[in-house]
Amino acid sequence: MGKKKEQSNTLGGQLCPMCRKKTLTLMESKLEVPYFGNVFVFSMTCSSCNYRKADLEAEEKKEPCKYTFEVKNKKDLNVRVIKSSEATVKIPHVGTMSPGPASEGFISNVEGIIVKFKEQVETLRDTEEDPAAKKKAKKLLKKIQKVLWGNEKLKIIIEDPTGNSAIISDKAVKKKI
Ligand SMILES: [Zn+2]
Repeated sequence: MGKKKEQSNTLGGQLCPMCRKKTLTLMESKLEVPYFGNVFVFSMTCSSCNYRKADLEAEEKKEPCKYTFEVKNKKDLNVRVIKSSEATVKIPHVGTMSPGPASEGFISNVEGIIVKFKEQVETLRDTEEDPAAKKKAKKLLKKIQKVLWGNEKLKIIIEDPTGNSAIISDKAVKKKI
């Protein structure tokens, strides 16, 4: 799906910005995403210090945007999501993924996004010492699991000042910001 024309370049032996060794590998590929256009996907990984960064950018300049999408059934989980490192992803009452140095860009689907949030809540459940907060995390995980089974609704909001993010569905509500 959507990978009709994939071109990929890899460049090894580059200088790592973190450990200063020449063990950084750069990768760039160009993907064609239907209803969005061509997307350049970049990543760098260092085999010495495990530094990693990934991001993406649309070939065509996009307007700052905000997408709201309501997940209602299992089919909605397959909807494609493009997220740049500049995007803020919010699931009301569950959590927020903020932009910043640790933020990565990726192409996934709604299910992939929900699973990332689920992992955050699982960490909270396992590390939280306050019993009330632990209980709340457990309850939230049950709700997320129901969404992943297609039995419960959930809203996802993605806001990106660079416009390099999107939820590819005609049911997604797109607004300019
Ligand atoms: Zn390194």
